[in-house]
Amino acid sequence: MTAKILDGKAIAGKARQEVADQVGKLVAKGGPTPGLAAVLVGDDPASHSYVRAKRKACAQAGIDSYRCALPADATQEQVIDLVGQLNGDEKVHGILVQLPLPDHLDEETVLGSVDILKDVDGLHPINIGRLAQKGREPLFVPATPVGILELLRQSGATLEGAEVIVLGRSNIVGMPTALLLIKEDATVTVCHSRTRALDQVCRRADILIAAIGQPELVRGSWIKPGSTIIDVGINRVQDPSKERGYRLVGDVAFEEARQVASAITPVPGGVGPMTIAMLLKNTLHAASGSYA
Ligand code: NDP
Repeated sequence: MTAKILDGKAIAGKARQEVADQVGKLVAKGGPTPGLAAVLVGDDPASHSYVRAKRKACAQAGIDSYRCALPADATQEQVIDLVGQLNGDEKVHGILVQLPLPDHLDEETVLGSVDILKDVDGLHPINIGRLAQKGREPLFVPATPVGILELLRQSGATLEGAEVIVLGRSNIVGMPTALLLIKEDATVTVCHSRTRALDQVCRRADILIAAIGQPELVRGSWIKPGSTIIDVGINRVQDPSKERGYRLVGDVAFEEARQVASAITPVPGGVGPMTIAMLLKNTLHAASGSYA
């Protein structure tokens, strides 16, 4: 069997076009131009490049974006003040705090200071709490997990009753993904660095979601024939044949896995593009909500 490739770039492109169309309609009927503010603390090059990519995507969708940068030694009070100003700014419908924050800042307090109605990253403790509770709905769900769900829907995989194995339990990917899929009636197991016999656990999966940041740890022999594989990992491995000296690989050994699975996401071009598209969708939702 050779797996179907789940083309995140194409699916995300369509989703972004839909957001752009909806933004156009919202503005045409007298609604606000959606605005997204990115709070960026410090000089982490990866964070700066993620914010650049998000702002570029906003511009293409007709969403205004604001880059709100503070120096690496900004105090907790300064960051909370900035978030407070953005909470009160009517041009801003969504606020994202680019993670990780410098070590001296308390991430939980900063995320908790974002107005829940503007929490387009879905990381406010109330939104995460609602995601974890039966019969409650968060206002926003983090973009990467929603992107994963969208890819699974497009793959045609059955979620109800499916055995899903999620590798990784981080606050931004693993755990909210597991919670979201429980809401979709899947049977979910979450694995982490202390999980025993990881290969055996993985072999049970109808749907395997890898979000651990370990290059190609998941081998073809770990995969149940016919399963669906979502590879969230983005890892740099040295490759002298490339001009930049490295290439990107996922957490799954792609060439091995595609011989066994029925569907698989590539890296790059799988989950990554979906994350940005879903952030735009959440921002549109925030702006539409305030207009309703
Ligand atoms: P974190 O480092 O926050 O979490 C990693 C998780 O993986 C932890 O729960 C850890 O376990 C677990 N883990 C690490 N090593 C192993 C192992 N050998 N076996 C089993 N579990 C292990 O990472 P993130 O969740 O932030 O990101 C995960 C990956 O996804 C990264 O490669 C990141 O770059 C990528 N990513 C991609 C995005 C996209 O849009 N495509 C968005 C966000 C992240 P423990 O809890 O025990 O430490």
